Amino acid sequence: MPRSSGSDPSIRETICPRCGAPSATGGLCGRCKVRQSPWFSSESRVTCTFCPTCGSRKECGVWTDIEWERDAIARELVRRALHLSRDLARTEVTITLREKSTNRTVADVTVNGILFGEPVGASSQVEILWEKEQCDRCNRISGSYYEGIVQVRAAGRRPYPHEISTASRIAREIEEGCFTAGERLSFIADIDESKDGLDITVGSQRIGQEIASAIVRRLGGRFTTHPKLVGERAGKRLYRITYSVRLPRYSRGDIIIVNRRCGEVIAADGKQIRYREIASGSDRTVQEDRVERLVGTVHDARDYLVTFRDGTVIGILDPDTGVSHECPAPRDPAICPGQHVRIVRDGEDLIVVG
Ligand SMILES: [Zn+2]
Ligand SMILES: [Zn+2]
Repeated sequence: MPRSSGSDPSIRETICPRCGAPSATGGLCGRCKVRQSPWFSSESRVTCTFCPTCGSRKECGVWTDIEWERDAIARELVRRALHLSRDLARTEVTITLREKSTNRTVADVTVNGILFGEPVGASSQVEILWEKEQCDRCNRISGSYYEGIVQVRAAGRRPYPHEISTASRIAREIEEGCFTAGERLSFIADIDESKDGLDITVGSQRIGQEIASAIVRRLGGRFTTHPKLVGERAGKRLYRITYSVRLPRYSRGDIIIVNRRCGEVIAADGKQIRYREIASGSDRTVQEDRVERLVGTVHDARDYLVTFRDGTVIGILDPDTGVSHECPAPRDPAICPGQHVRIVRDGEDLIVVG
């Protein structure tokens, strides 16, 4: 072998000791390194466990509600089942899915890349097993498990329809929020309207507390909690809590008579009422027991057409009968003929509420 210089000792180190091919480092050449390092392997089977009722998925023993799509999950699981050498560069993975049956998918996998400067390629098959299992939440719901009931009642009356619908909407919104936050067991098992009001059966004490607080924040009144020991579950005492929501006798939007004057309730906590006197527009506070009577509520108000405005009087048209009436003009000077005003009837009297 001709040498340009017999005194250069590095020459020997640029040859692969195993096969004699040129080697940049003097160690094993790329091809010999590839031959002796297992750079690719894959698991032959992966399992995806999901709930057939609600579609949630179990991962590492934990159920999650993250939206998933069968194809995307299959590819993700297969990718995780592949073990590739860290030295592999310019990796290209191709996954082709074949549905074998409803609970079996086969993935054909091809991997290509560059390892120690040498192009390499390999292929394998991974089977995806779709396993059905009832999730923790569906298990509780189907077993009629619950931890509390939010009972919505009102003082001295039945809750109004708008209060019932508001309370049930609030409950659903909170359930949605818990769901989004990953609180899987904070579900509503049942919403039931009874002759006394509304009963909301809940899966966790957390959501019960939240619903009761939110209803009181929105509709006034207050709530008390009444725990009851119902047994044991896995060595822990199991309580069920009744959240007793008591809406005030008068609530926001009620039209009341105080000192022979009309007012619209702004807020009530069951003892004191804050209201706006309709004639003067000023805010006042009164003890609940000083209210002379309830006229109605702004939720029952109807639109009347204004036909004229003359100083302190306006003319309005009843939308049902077409009969015209006169009543005291509202404080808002912008209300003029052609516009509508909201009217609550008090016998023969018409009260402009907005
Ligand atoms: Zn070699
Ligand atoms: Zn489920």
